[in-house]
Amino acid sequence: MKRVSILGATGSIGENTVDLIARAPEEHKVVALTGGRNVVRLAEQAIALNAELAVTCYPELKQQLADRLSGTGIEVAAGSEALLDAAARPADWVMSAIVGAAGLPPGLVALKQGATLALANKESLVCAGALLKETAAAHGATLLPVDSEHSAVAQALVGEDISAVERVIITASGGAFRDWPLERLAEATPEQASKHPNWDMGQRITVDSASMFNKALEVIETHEYFGFSPSQIEVIVHPQSLIHALVGFHDGALMAHVGPPDMRHAIGYALYYPERRALPVERLDLVKIGQLDFRAPCERRWPALRLAREVMAMGGLAGAAFNAAKEQALDAFLARQIRFTDMATVVEETLEALERDGALKCDRMRLDDVMETDHLARKRAVEAASLIATDA
Ligand code: NAD
Ligand code: MG
Repeated sequence: MKRVSILGATGSIGENTVDLIARAPEEHKVVALTGGRNVVRLAEQAIALNAELAVTCYPELKQQLADRLSGTGIEVAAGSEALLDAAARPADWVMSAIVGAAGLPPGLVALKQGATLALANKESLVCAGALLKETAAAHGATLLPVDSEHSAVAQALVGEDISAVERVIITASGGAFRDWPLERLAEATPEQASKHPNWDMGQRITVDSASMFNKALEVIETHEYFGFSPSQIEVIVHPQSLIHALVGFHDGALMAHVGPPDMRHAIGYALYYPERRALPVERLDLVKIGQLDFRAPCERRWPALRLAREVMAMGGLAGAAFNAAKEQALDAFLARQIRFTDMATVVEETLEALERDGALKCDRMRLDDVMETDHLARKRAVEAASLIATDA
């Protein structure tokens, strides 16, 4: 039996992972499940999957979780140390599906115990790609991509020589506002930004899809995970979200990965890797679909794409600063403190300020430096957001 843990079990990726594991209980021994505020759902999942341990990151919710699980024999814990302990419990496969930079420390701990880390949490690669890869190598652990585009690229590369790759194209749906007139973007509300045309995902990544901060993170993720140079990575808008990525080779061939917008494909690929198992995803009827469309992404509509290029050019700790500033800008937008279009301004100002202060340089990446940069960037971004809010 494969021992599996899910960090962020109650989220959108977590639920899809639970769904796949629940379909094959005889093959999986569930070690730890972690979640946040939704302890009712966490307890249900822990019971359904017969987990050893359930952890909420909120200490004040420990009792509630314990009440729900009393008499089941399932261990209960709470708080950030408990989250790290859950990630350290011996497991063969760990799903990293916490949202944001908060997923980095437990992801590193899971790699240190030698587990295969299925990485939905792209923020950890953006913040600390070098550190994750170094940790995996030092502990004989494997990192597998779960983001749909990166799973698609990995699948297109099977059996290929990576040096024969000319370019990688990752697709973007364009999110909620791809067809809005540019001048209306400043009025966009959090409710409008939280509706994705194709994918059903957590709220934060859905808003990040509308702003393309999600795609910006994914461009950096492609660079960090596969080692492709920034000039090899392209983004195109593909409204149907059926082609997830294409890999172009030196002979001019493009290998495209086509599939329905259902994260259980990428999760299932990582869960059973290197085998391919039957998965409960829709089979595409290409005749019914009829047509696939592509457009160039407009950097005036989506300045996050330009910022991603700047981050890759800066290197060092720029990814950590970018992600942290983006998370704070998103919080400020969701709190209606700043406008949708202000998010990019907050991130750009934060990056510029930290670079000016020399805070983004690093020779060898350490977790402490990443956390320090994350902290500095959040502080700067909060200041930038409040300045914008007062001006408005
Ligand atoms: P979500 O908001 O639905 O779920 C997040 C999970 O993390 C929940 O279980 C929540 O309780 C937990 N969590 C939140 N903050 C935490 C904290 N500070 N400490 C510990 N746990 C915390 O998010 P999601 O959409 O499932 O996304 C999860 C990750 O997967 C993100 O990194 C996202 O970018 C990535 N991803 C998601 C999708 C998708 O389809 N949803 C696709 C590709 C990549
Ligand atoms: Mg993606």
